[in-house]
Amino acid sequence: MTLIQKILTSLVPAAWARDMREESQRWMMRCACGHEISVWDAGGVRWKASGNPVRLVLCQKCGSLTPHTTYRKD
Ligand SMILES: [Zn+2]
Repeated sequence: MTLIQKILTSLVPAAWARDMREESQRWMMRCACGHEISVWDAGGVRWKASGNPVRLVLCQKCGSLTPHTTYRKD
């Protein structure tokens, strides 16, 4: 876990921390090259959120700083 993930999951009850992790793993960020990574695996947390924001992220596959679309995989 990244520092921010450790801090956030330690601030809430264990059940919430588990929910936070599971939900963050369902939120995916997709690069224009097709590479996808979950918000959690990218070191972030996305919990109790909605919408499909676009973020500039350094893609781990193509190595480019590209707009990644965030969407929830259910
Ligand atoms: Zn890419």
